Amino acid sequence: MVTKQEIIDAAYQIGFADIGFTSAEPFDSHKAILEERASFYDWVYERGMNLLKGTDPKAIYPEVRSIIVLLENYHQEAFPPDMLGKFGRCYMVDDRMTKDDLAQRTKQFRAFLSSHGIQSKSGPYLPQRLAAARAGLGTFGKNCMLYANKAARQSSWVFPVVLLVDQEFAPDEPTVTVNCPTWCKNACIAACPTGALRGPNKIDPRKCISYLSYYGEGVTPIEYREAMGMKVYGCDRCQEVCPRNEPWMNQDLPVSQKISAWAKDFDLRALLHMDEQYYIEKVQPHMFYMPPEEIWRFQMNAARAMGNSLNPEYKEELKRCLAENRDERVREMATWALEKLNSL
Ligand code: SF4
Ligand code: SF4
Repeated sequence: MVTKQEIIDAAYQIGFADIGFTSAEPFDSHKAILEERASFYDWVYERGMNLLKGTDPKAIYPEVRSIIVLLENYHQEAFPPDMLGKFGRCYMVDDRMTKDDLAQRTKQFRAFLSSHGIQSKSGPYLPQRLAAARAGLGTFGKNCMLYANKAARQSSWVFPVVLLVDQEFAPDEPTVTVNCPTWCKNACIAACPTGALRGPNKIDPRKCISYLSYYGEGVTPIEYREAMGMKVYGCDRCQEVCPRNEPWMNQDLPVSQKISAWAKDFDLRALLHMDEQYYIEKVQPHMFYMPPEEIWRFQMNAARAMGNSLNPEYKEELKRCLAENRDERVREMATWALEKLNSL
């Protein structure tokens, strides 16, 4: 039988930044939070995402005996400067559609387990960050992000891959705690533009720019428009201001050539005027939370970013949008953005 150490060695060899093991016990604390803050998550269930099911690994995989968590450092390269501030970093590296990097290595790791008689299953609604902390891989920040214990210079630029396995392994020491330095005066909470961080470890996801940019109801409310700034899809603000991320951020990393190759397709002009075909071919392979019939969200976000850019060169684009785009939500935002640029 393969040993725990051999599994650890395989994970590093395949390119993961860290690996930990935890029991298959339910995530009761997470369940309690979901139930206590149920009104925050109505929209999740309306979209068919059963978060409560994810709190019980056995409900996902009845044969589960242990949980293996792999940690991916998704910031090994720098991101194209044109993309930063507009698109969240984790979305730029999300290869769930292209299946060309993390997906391949996860497959390779699972094949390794399988070759040793261990079956594994991933679950879409498992509390990944909590699983990682329970497996001793990281602690939390007051921005609700997971900070690695060893990998990526203890930064939050890590993504846990959670696998339920049908064999039992000794669990690692959990590190489920908030580990922010006392001298940090809650910089993340102060910096959150939309007030989504309500206090240490408490986020209202409905106010988070990530939610507002790809799931928000209708046209973005006026009170959030300026606060969302240039952000089109996702937000990293509470991680960018965090001193726990300084060691990683203060490196001269090479810019990802892979992302640079498609970054031009995410130019604000292209997004504002795109049709469904463009979205399907150029955008959706990388940022896919909206179905093609909801491209109005991307267009609306591009219009808002143009207004907030204070760049008068976008006036002509917004006028063209008003002449061509029939979606009332996009038109409302384009009008708002144009008025903002015209007032300069
Ligand atoms: S991602 Fe942005 S909007 Fe969301 S909590 Fe962090 S700073 Fe606030
Ligand atoms: S900004 Fe400060 S309080 Fe927020 S997660 Fe980082 S260290 Fe913790």
